Amino acid sequence: MRRRVKLVQARRLAVTLNGQPLTLKGCLALILLLYLLRKGFFSDKTGKVFKGNQPPLKHNSMLTQNLGYPRIGARRELKKAEEAYWAEKQPAEALLETARKIRIQNWKTQQQAGIDLIPSNDFSLYDQVLDTSLMVGAVPERYRPLTGGPVLDLYFAMARGVQRKGIDIGAMEMTKWFDTNYHYIVPEFTRDQGFSANPDKPVQEFAEALALGIPTKPVLLGPLSYLILGKEKESGFDRITLLERLVPVYVTVIRELASKGAEWIQLDEPALTTDLTPEQKKGYESAYATIRAAVPEVRLLLATYFGDLLENSALAASLPVDALHIDVTRGSLLSILDDPGFRNSTKLLSVGIVDGRNIWKNDLHQSLLLLKQATAILGPDRVLVAPSCSLLHTPLDLDAETEIPAIIKNWLAFSRQKLDETVILRQLATQAEPWSGCPVYQANQLAVQSRKTSPLIHRPAVKERLTAIRPADFNRQNPFPVRKQLQQEHLRLPLFPTTTIGSFPQTTEIRQLRAQYKKGDLTETAYNDRIRQEIADSIRWQEEIGMDVLVHGEFERNDMVEYFGERLSGFIFTRNGWVQSYGSRCVKPPVIYGDVERPQPMTVPWASAAQSLTSKPVKGMLTGPVTILQWSFVRDDQPRKDTAYQLALAIRDEVTDLEKAGIAIIQIDEPAIREGLPLRRSDWDTYLDWAVAAFRLSASGVTDQTQIHTHMCYSEFNDIITSISAMDADVITIETSRSQMELLQAFADFRYPNDIGPGVYDIHSPRIPETAEMVALLQKALQVIPSQNLWVNPDCGLKTRQWPETKAALERMIAAAQALRQ
Ligand code: GLN
Ligand code: ZN
Repeated sequence: MRRRVKLVQARRLAVTLNGQPLTLKGCLALILLLYLLRKGFFSDKTGKVFKGNQPPLKHNSMLTQNLGYPRIGARRELKKAEEAYWAEKQPAEALLETARKIRIQNWKTQQQAGIDLIPSNDFSLYDQVLDTSLMVGAVPERYRPLTGGPVLDLYFAMARGVQRKGIDIGAMEMTKWFDTNYHYIVPEFTRDQGFSANPDKPVQEFAEALALGIPTKPVLLGPLSYLILGKEKESGFDRITLLERLVPVYVTVIRELASKGAEWIQLDEPALTTDLTPEQKKGYESAYATIRAAVPEVRLLLATYFGDLLENSALAASLPVDALHIDVTRGSLLSILDDPGFRNSTKLLSVGIVDGRNIWKNDLHQSLLLLKQATAILGPDRVLVAPSCSLLHTPLDLDAETEIPAIIKNWLAFSRQKLDETVILRQLATQAEPWSGCPVYQANQLAVQSRKTSPLIHRPAVKERLTAIRPADFNRQNPFPVRKQLQQEHLRLPLFPTTTIGSFPQTTEIRQLRAQYKKGDLTETAYNDRIRQEIADSIRWQEEIGMDVLVHGEFERNDMVEYFGERLSGFIFTRNGWVQSYGSRCVKPPVIYGDVERPQPMTVPWASAAQSLTSKPVKGMLTGPVTILQWSFVRDDQPRKDTAYQLALAIRDEVTDLEKAGIAIIQIDEPAIREGLPLRRSDWDTYLDWAVAAFRLSASGVTDQTQIHTHMCYSEFNDIITSISAMDADVITIETSRSQMELLQAFADFRYPNDIGPGVYDIHSPRIPETAEMVALLQKALQVIPSQNLWVNPDCGLKTRQWPETKAALERMIAAAQALRQ
C-alpha cells in the first residue's frame, strides 16, 4: 500500500512537470477542436480521417474508446423497418438499407465526437447474442428446414418463431441480459454440439466502415460469456465443456477480421463480473491462451462491465490480452491498479467512467480524480477513457428532447452526450490542473452542484417522512390467519374465488380516446364519461358471467408505470428517450429525478366509480414501489433503497385512500421484483430485504379487514420464495400456466402460508383454453395448495387481448372454478 502511494506521488510529479498547465486559452482551443471534430472538419473529401488510420501501439497520449452504440435509430427507424418487413409490407432490401444507414450514422457520430476506437459489429438486426449463435453455427436442430434458404428467414425464425407454408417452429427462449432491461436470445446447446465459423457479419460491417474511412474495432461476445449465457438442452453435460470446440471458431473469425485490416478486436466478457465456477475460470485461462497464441497479429481488448470483478480481478488482469476494460461506475479501479502483474505489464487499461446505464451527466471532477489515479500508476499512454458499458442501455440524444425543463435537462446526458463527456475527460485528464480554468468543466460542475441543492429535487417533507418511518409501519396489525378470518367475514367469498389481474383489452378505440384527450381534442368531462362507460360495461359483464372479485379494467392507463409516474412528483418523461428492450421492442423509461410525493389520489375516482356499480367487491389496482423503481431511470444521488421507500410511501397513501373510499381488496403489482436481483449472489439478501420492506411499507397502512393482493409474472420465482412469502400479501396471483404449474412445487416445499392464485391460462396467446384443461391444472394445484387457499385467475393482465377471446376464456375459467366447487 505504502509503495503504491509513493508511486502515485512520483508519477504525479512527472505529470505536473511534463504537462502544460491548463489555461483558459488551452480550454478554448479544446472547445474549438471538439467543434471542428463534430463538423467533420478534419475529414478530407474521401471521408478519410485526418488523424491517421490506426493508433500506433506506442502512442504518447491517452485514447478514448466506445464499447457499443444504440442501434434503433434516431426515430426508431429499425423498429419500423423490421415490423414492415415482418408484415411483408417491405422487402428485405429496404430493411437492410435502413440498418446500413443507422450503422453509418452511428460511426460518423462517434468519429465526429472524437472517439478513437469506434466499435463495429455492435449493430444487430435483433440481438447480439443471436448474432453470435449464427456466427459460431449454433443453430438448433429444429430450424433445419430453414437452413440453406435466406439467412434473414432463419435469423428471424430463431428470434420470433415461424408459422407459414406448413412450417411451424417455435422461437428460442429470451431472457434478461445480466441486470439490464435488455433481453437476449438464449443459445441452446446439446451434448454433441458442433460449431462452424461464419464471419460474414463482423467482416462485412468492418469493411463497410473502412470504406467510409473509419477503421473500427469489431466487437464479439467472448466465448466464455457466450457459453455461460446459454442453456443445455439435454441433461448430463456442462456447456462449458464445449469450449474446446468453440474456441477454434473464434480464432477463425478473429483471423479473418485481422486479415481485413482490423487492428483491435473487442471481446465482451461481462460474465467476469458474476460468480464463476472453477471450470469457468479455467476455461477463461485456456481459451484466451489459445486465442492469443493463434492470432498474435491483432490487439485484443477484453471488455468487462456491469459490476466489480471482485475475486475475478486477478484472473481478468492475467489474461493475455492487450487491453482490459473495467466498469468503474460499479466496480473498483484499485483492484486492477493494485495487481502487480497488471501494473508491470504493458497492457492498457480502459477506464469505464461514463455511466452507460443511466441518463445523468458525468461529474467530471470525480471522474478526473479516478483517471488521475490510473495515469499516475500506468502513465497516460496506458489509459483509455470510455463509457462503462455499451451505450445500448441509454437513449440516443438529449438534443431531441424539447419539452424537458431546462434546469432538469442540464442534469442529463444521453448516448451522444456521453461520447462528448468521454472525449472531454480525455482532454482534461491529459492536461494539468487546475481544471477550473476550463468553461466546459465549470459548466459541468455548476450542473452537478445545482443537482445537489435544487428545490426541484429536494423536498424536506419527503426526507423527514422517510426518517420518521417506524418498524410498525412495515407490519400489518395481525398475522395472516387472523386477517384471513376477518376478511372472510367481511367479503364472504366462495371457495376457489375467481378474479382477473387487472387490465381488460386495450382496444384501438380506447387508445384513440386517451390520445385525443392528451392532445386536447377531447374535454376532461367527455373523456371521463367515456372511460366511465367502459368501466360500467365491464362491471356489468363481469357480474353476468359470475366473477367473484371484479376489476375496473385499467382503461385509463397507458402503461402500468407511466400512469403512476405522471401523477407523482419527482418524475419526468422524455419524448424520444427510447431504449431497446428486445428485437424491435423499445421502452421509454420514466426518469425519477427528485423526491417522490403523491400530491393527490391517483386511482381512487376510477375504483370508486366501479365499486358504486356493484355489490361485489371491486379490487383496487396499483403498481408496486419496486416495479416502478425497476422500470425507470433512477437517481444516482441517493441509494436505490431510499427511492424505493419514497415510492412506497406514495403508494401507501393511495392504498389507505382506497380503503377509506370503501375498496376492500387492493392489488399491488410487483412483476419486476425478481429483476432487481444483483448479479452476485452475495448481494441478494441486502436487495431482497429492502425490496420486500418497500412492498410491506406500501401495503401495511390498512386494517386487517382489507385484503392485499400482489401479482408477479415473467420469471422463475423458486429461488426467492422465502422473500415472496415475507412480502406477506394476503393473496398472490402468479404466472404458472406455461410451466404447467411446475412453479408450485416451490410453494409446496416451502409451505407458502397465504392464499395463492396460480394462473390457469396463458394470456400471451389468443388461444381460448378448454374448461377441462383449466380444471386439470387446478387439480394439479390442489395437490400442493389447500383448497381454502386456492384462487382462480389468468396468468396476467388481459390488455393485449381482444374482447371475444377474453370473454370466452373467462367464462370457461369461471366454469372451471364451479366444476371444482362441486
Ligand atoms: N395489473 C396489471 C395488468 O393487469 C399487471 C400487469 C403485469 O403484471 N405486467 O395489466
Ligand atoms: Zn403479470
